[in-house]
Amino acid sequence: MNKCRHLIREGMSLKCAAGRDIKAWVARCGRPSGWGLMLPCINNAPEKPLFDCPEVDRKTDAEVEAERKEMDDHVNRFVSGMAGLQKIKDGMVSDGTSSMTTTCPWCDGENTLSVSIALGYNNHIRARCSSCEMGCLE
Ligand code: SF4
Ligand SMILES: [Zn+2]
Repeated sequence: MNKCRHLIREGMSLKCAAGRDIKAWVARCGRPSGWGLMLPCINNAPEKPLFDCPEVDRKTDAEVEAERKEMDDHVNRFVSGMAGLQKIKDGMVSDGTSSMTTTCPWCDGENTLSVSIALGYNNHIRARCSSCEMGCLE
């Protein structure tokens, strides 16, 4: 199921970088749900596509695989820093520190991680590294 490279996801909505009006086609279809897999933008083998698009340009298997690997690498990297971030958070909560800069648990950058915590509210954390750009918004 290699998507068209012109397909853009913006939150819950789908847009076409080639300027086609996907929403209008969906509205014409008249189905409130179940149309996702009928879009030629998403599915390369629908039983009955909503429309035939002359500008469809599917990603290759190699591109899809590379994107999947990039996403997996990012998720694994994110998870690798979470124990360190939790330790920072626990320390800040017990010290009553609401904001600080410290060593980044992802790249070990010295004082590159800006952290703030909503102390006394929900203790949610906001963290961002100026070096590796990893971070977390709880
Ligand atoms: S299949 Fe057509 S409408 Fe859909 S994203 Fe690609 S170019 Fe746009
Ligand atoms: Zn970092």
